[in-house]
Amino acid sequence: MKQKRYAGVIVDVRAEAVNRIFQYAIPERYQGQIEIGHRVLVPFGRRKLEGYVVELTNELEVAEQKLKAIIKPLDLKPAILPSLVELARWMAETYAGLFSEALQYMLPPAARYGRERVGVKTAQLVTLLDPNPALRKNAWAQRRVLEILQVRGEMLAAELLALADTSSSTLRALEKQGVISLGEVRVERKVEVDPVSDPAVVLTEQQRQAVDLILEEMQGQGKPVLLHGVTGSGKTEVYLQVIGEVLRSGKQAIVLVPEIALTPQILNRFAARFKDRVTVLHSALSLGERFDQWCKIRDGQVDVVVGARSAVFAPLPRLGLIVLDEEHERTYKQEDGSIRYQTREVAIKRCALVGGQVVLGSATPALESYHKALQSEYLLAELPERVEQRPLPKIEVVDMREEFAQGNRSMFSQRLREELDALVGTRRQAIILLNRRGFANFVLCRECGEVLGCPNCQVSLTYHKGENRLKCHYCLHQEALPSKCPRCASRYLRQFGVGTEQLEEALGKEFPGLKTLRLDADTTRRKGAHAAILRQFAQGQAQVLIGTQMVAKGLDFPQVTLVGVLAADLSLRFPDIRSSERTFQLLTQVAGRSGRGELPGTVVVQAYEPNHFAIEMARSHDYLGFYRKEIGFRRSLGYPPFRQLVRILCSGPKEKAEEACRAIAAHLVQQGTAQRDLVGPFPAPVGRIQGRYRWQVLVKSDGPLQSLNALPAVDGEVQVTIDLDPLHML
Ligand code: ADP
Ligand code: ZN
Ligand code: ZN
Repeated sequence: MKQKRYAGVIVDVRAEAVNRIFQYAIPERYQGQIEIGHRVLVPFGRRKLEGYVVELTNELEVAEQKLKAIIKPLDLKPAILPSLVELARWMAETYAGLFSEALQYMLPPAARYGRERVGVKTAQLVTLLDPNPALRKNAWAQRRVLEILQVRGEMLAAELLALADTSSSTLRALEKQGVISLGEVRVERKVEVDPVSDPAVVLTEQQRQAVDLILEEMQGQGKPVLLHGVTGSGKTEVYLQVIGEVLRSGKQAIVLVPEIALTPQILNRFAARFKDRVTVLHSALSLGERFDQWCKIRDGQVDVVVGARSAVFAPLPRLGLIVLDEEHERTYKQEDGSIRYQTREVAIKRCALVGGQVVLGSATPALESYHKALQSEYLLAELPERVEQRPLPKIEVVDMREEFAQGNRSMFSQRLREELDALVGTRRQAIILLNRRGFANFVLCRECGEVLGCPNCQVSLTYHKGENRLKCHYCLHQEALPSKCPRCASRYLRQFGVGTEQLEEALGKEFPGLKTLRLDADTTRRKGAHAAILRQFAQGQAQVLIGTQMVAKGLDFPQVTLVGVLAADLSLRFPDIRSSERTFQLLTQVAGRSGRGELPGTVVVQAYEPNHFAIEMARSHDYLGFYRKEIGFRRSLGYPPFRQLVRILCSGPKEKAEEACRAIAAHLVQQGTAQRDLVGPFPAPVGRIQGRYRWQVLVKSDGPLQSLNALPAVDGEVQVTIDLDPLHML
């Protein structure tokens, strides 16, 4: 094969202006050595920049005299697999973001740096603390260091010094001023999982069929398979079996879970089955540990990678399968940066590039996914029953308006109280979920359950305290806060908000015989605290586990026979077109924690609007019923999956942000978007953050919006963020 002479390079700078491929000559001595995915140093203007080789060719595309040469490769081996370079290209196009930023996802975690030339023991890591310090005017070296860190955030001292062409005294000076911190990176420390025993199971008939379907599709067209199985139906066992087959055929697998810290039990099962062939990507690990894992993965030393969202980029060289467990979870959407990807789509694309298979698993699939399954874009495997003929728990819904009318001012309904009383003195356990989805402020009438909603959009209005007004986050509608309930004229209108701490207190007072544990953001801040709390609960050190959404997911405690849900419909009020879906999912998931062992389970759901279909369908375990009803709404309102919603946010100085947003809207209209498919431009619901004004325009489209990739240039001070299917509109 003839050696390629030219390389297409993406420079590692976070700016729209350089978001394109630059061609460089490959010096003779590096020809054949530099491959796609290689990190290289290139001359750029008067600077030297790092970049990534994304193309190799013999076609010269720039004027010969303008052509510059790559200075040197920065790593021995390419940092990024060729298929991941392609994936990054696709992401940049699909999500209208920067190619260089997409490539960042493919690099070693956090360090985002080829580390093999650095010793294996320790290395010094520089972390940017203050991105906008007041540096002395002529402190040029410090400024260069700062400039690089503003892009990188964090990097190895050795690399930084080489790039900034300075000495470590510069770093010490910056450290003194509090601009950066210097830390040690350690390597090689074991990931902690306590493997459970791995019982030999005989697959149920349903599980067998699901496994067969997946394996067959793997040999065939490779369409994604949606595994829709009720809670406790043995989905995890299906994943384990399929992965076993994948490994036997010499391939490798990625298992994605919504939040790694929340799923210790699932991790243990993978560890028990695949022993040291599995590694868990855990953000709580030190940078060195994560880097070490990354190298092992890339070098083919592990075959199964379990992790959250970003593990979809794990550089397994022989990838054959990606599993997304709880595929409907919103944590699968990336909410930061210029590339706001949906993990499900990325996984499907990645597998398409390498001939791999995707399995999406859930008891409550995202509406989009089920829709695709019904359209035959995905295949559908169903596990409609729990294993060992265990019944699904009985769900009772209590109307809290009635309780209020009867003078019950406590947090607990009569029914929940009875059930809790019945626990005292037994070995059975309960989980109580306080539904606090989102902290959006809405106003609720405690007498009739009314929540003020937008007349146009079918979402609740959000209370903005500063202005004392209610606003819709989807359209321009806003109104003053009324003093009385518009439906029943009651004055018991109030913002809803109790915390888990108050709940624990109240429980302690009313049921002194029940020991409690609390699982929420507060109690799990310390590293390892989450797992410790769950372990204590598993050992029976407390009878009631209280928590937020965290307790809804994936937990498997056979002694739990009671689940209580407080404010079940709170999440219906979240200003989000998916609020019904979220509520249905949450209730189904948390109910699924009950009765997983020999003893049957009960669920008591407290709600202000008990007749809402999301609650009714969850009560009757009727996913399909829910789907049919909700998909009808989506169709009639032109929401996903029928049409795509894109949010374009411009933030910057007042006039400039508005101007940019208007220019973009005008551009879209000129490119063929109908005026009626635009909402805005108007100020975002949160109109100003840190002195930057925020304007947005919402676009509905029937397919990918090509025009997003060629938006007009805007003022350099304005930041444009494009979000496909945004989760929130703040
Ligand atoms: P899901 O992920 O669908 O909620 P799990 O995979 O966690 O369900 O399975 C629920 C429980 O049933 C687990 O304790 C698991 O070990 C057990 N289990 C799974 N498959 C079988 C089987 N075929 N026979 C017996 N027990 C099983
Ligand atoms: Zn009312
Ligand atoms: Zn509205």
